[in-house]
Amino acid sequence: MKVLALAGGVGGAKLAHGLAMTLQQGDELTVVVNTGDDFEHWGLFVSPDLDTVCYALAGLENPQTGWGRAEESWHVLQEMRTLGAADWFALGDRDLATHLERSRRLRSGQRLSEVTASFCSAWGIDCRVLPMSDDPAPTLVETVDAGVLPFQEYFVRLRCEPRVSGFDLSAARQAAPAVGVLQAIQEADVVIVCPSNPWVSIGPILAVPGILPALQMHGCVAAVSPLIGGVAVKGPAAKMFRELGFEPGVMAVAECYRDFLKAMIIDFRDEKYATSLTQWGIIPYITDTYMSDKNQRRRLASQILEFCQLLLKGGL
Ligand code: GDP
Repeated sequence: MKVLALAGGVGGAKLAHGLAMTLQQGDELTVVVNTGDDFEHWGLFVSPDLDTVCYALAGLENPQTGWGRAEESWHVLQEMRTLGAADWFALGDRDLATHLERSRRLRSGQRLSEVTASFCSAWGIDCRVLPMSDDPAPTLVETVDAGVLPFQEYFVRLRCEPRVSGFDLSAARQAAPAVGVLQAIQEADVVIVCPSNPWVSIGPILAVPGILPALQMHGCVAAVSPLIGGVAVKGPAAKMFRELGFEPGVMAVAECYRDFLKAMIIDFRDEKYATSLTQWGIIPYITDTYMSDKNQRRRLASQILEFCQLLLKGGL
């Protein structure tokens, strides 16, 4: 089976890793990753979601935070602090090698997708990871209290505290999909929207020209809800829904993807929404969607793949 996953950072990386561990011989996995969070820090190009996904797939991720590297040290950050450099975004010593080398290659003219493919091979990742675009596509967060903010200013420096009134995805709307993205969607048997933030992780991917129409044409797209019982496992997704005037929960997530969704994987704590999803023409699959460790990633991914096989066979 050819599987394509759309992913942001931590939630997306967990399921992408589960899928990679579960695929059988002959199966193929492509992960298309949000680059709306990318920014420059200390003169380096940083791509947080790409790195989170790649570190998880390579088994290099920090198990406590879900982002950054395992067995990390922070000598450079301490020295930068002493010199008066901005320290609100923490880059560890091991992680820094990624940003240094990627920045060097981008400056020499390589595309982000080429650098990513090369890093994946160096890290022993055997599925394909594609940035949504090779063009810069920074997400801007429109807030009530602090004006329009670059994404990482909102997310890390201000700890998601300002009230959100909208998102400016105009850069993503003008970006071209990275080479291979549209073809990978067309060729996939199933597309899985990972449990990532619909506004700032999946939204920017959908804004890239061609991607939403490709999903609308696809016919077998399933999304995993990032909200469980109306609450985000991590991050500001529920807060964003509330501030934008939606009751956070499964139906609000479904609304974001309604025009291309065939099925939705929801947590057993949200079982009561199965009927409403069915009424919307979306086939619900109910399970434990919380991935507390590697075994749970594998368990959820294999349940999803089995469910998708049934969808493909028309058995549902
Ligand atoms: P970010 O860029 O690191 O915020 O990455 P994502 O958008 O991929 O991940 C954040 C979203 O993942 C949040 O909305 C979380 O609720 C969701 N999430 C994280 N872990 C899990 C999990 O184990 N299960 C589910 N269902 N959602 C999760």
